[in-house]
Amino acid sequence: MNRPKIVILGAGYGGMITTVKLQKMLGRNEADITLVNKHNYHYQTTWLHENAAGTLHHDHTRIKISDVVDLNRVELVQDTVVSLQPDEKKVTLENGELTYDYLVVGLGFEAATFGIQGLLENAFTINNINSARLIRDHIEYNFARYNNEKEDRQDLLNIVIGGAGFTGIEFAGELGNRVPELCKEYDVPREKVRIITVEASPTALPGFDEELVEYAMNYLESQGVEFKLGTMLKQVNEHSIIVEKDEQQEEIPSSNVIWAAGVRGNSIVEETGFETARGRVKVSEDLRAPGHDDIFIVGDCALIMDKENDRPYPPTAQIAIQEAEVTAHNLKTLVHGGSKLEAFEPELQGTVASLGEGQAIGVVFGGKKLFGWKASVMKKIIDNRYLLKLGGVGLLLKKGKFNIFTK
Ligand code: FAD
Ligand code: NAD
Repeated sequence: MNRPKIVILGAGYGGMITTVKLQKMLGRNEADITLVNKHNYHYQTTWLHENAAGTLHHDHTRIKISDVVDLNRVELVQDTVVSLQPDEKKVTLENGELTYDYLVVGLGFEAATFGIQGLLENAFTINNINSARLIRDHIEYNFARYNNEKEDRQDLLNIVIGGAGFTGIEFAGELGNRVPELCKEYDVPREKVRIITVEASPTALPGFDEELVEYAMNYLESQGVEFKLGTMLKQVNEHSIIVEKDEQQEEIPSSNVIWAAGVRGNSIVEETGFETARGRVKVSEDLRAPGHDDIFIVGDCALIMDKENDRPYPPTAQIAIQEAEVTAHNLKTLVHGGSKLEAFEPELQGTVASLGEGQAIGVVFGGKKLFGWKASVMKKIIDNRYLLKLGGVGLLLKKGKFNIFTK
């Protein structure tokens, strides 16, 4: 094979880190590298809840790909991937097709909707810049409508969050800050607005440290967030939801339903015919798809089991970044004619979740618990470290979060 063609699909955490590492690791004439993405920007998915609430402008979250990728070295194809044909080593795009010698699939996640009635039609999900912008504008529009309606339309002021996992909790925290601003802007009494988090498990953040969960719930409740625990969201209508607890159903008016109750891998991966669980491919230790030595899968499309508890590692940016580093290294080995590939061993550095301005919870350094402003500072350090890794000091100074006590 002379001058192999490496095609990377998706400019999320997995795709971007693979690309920037490869452009450093491989000489200009060693391989042709192509990055395919829907947009000409990369976005920090981990900040989308802030964009969706309207507490952070989306331009802060997105990064022009050309600011971090050398487009003389990497070809950027701005297009949408439609399907993969592994047997022909081909990728079909909306506006053409590409062939490859090595493929990296980093197409990220989709909301898992579990077939809930009316969800696709009537609820919003925090998936990307466009969906976050839509949520921000939709909520704001409903606040603007409230005082223009003849009847008391409580559904316009009830914001329902489906799921109190990390995404739901982080979004609730941002709403705790945003709702008072909206009330002021649109002359709505704060006590009229409800932020209702519906969680099927008996606790928020199931499986996370109990003391931290209690801190998070107490703090969010002090910000006006209500929790309906042990409660399943069963149905979403245009202006209400149906929830069920202890076999009792209740209808709650709401025209602002944000579904944050779980993710699955991009459906393109499943449609390719790979064996998947929740749309994620159980990859080999060196991150290749079973039976396809030329295809690496990174990020939320990949599934890796934690041998200690025989459960899959959760789909996180932290893991996507580490997988991308190993993938870039393994591609370099293959391009150089080697065959001994590195096995992926995640180095989990902890979990930190924001609760809004200057507030967070987290477990870091192998078990140390952090609360409040200290956890919030840690969250900013983690975010800033990623920017440094991706684009160096320039990107850090442009997009980093430096105000310790606020945004
Ligand atoms: P993504 O980041 O989802 O990127 C996929 C890319 O592929 C996107 O650029 C998209 O535009 C592109 N794409 C998708 N489909 C196509 C197509 N058909 N054609 C072309 N391009 C396409 N994890 C953490 O570790 N820490 C956190 O604090 C954290 N916070 C989070 C907060 C929120 C609100 C959410 C929703 C998730 C959070 N996560 C966090 C999880 C983390 O964001 C994901 O695990 C991570 O984004 C996965 O990275 P990825 O590279 O697989 O894909
Ligand atoms: P999740 O799967 O972690 O949580 C979803 C929650 O929704 C669960 O608590 C589940 O019990 C609940 N749920 C599911 N169906 C329901 C229903 N019908 N009614 C009511 N509740 C229901 O999903 P997520 O929060 O979207 O997170 C996705 C991934 O992103 C996870 O791996 C998470 O760790 C990661 N993430 C990390 C951070 C962070 O580290 N700060 C932030 C956000 C997301």
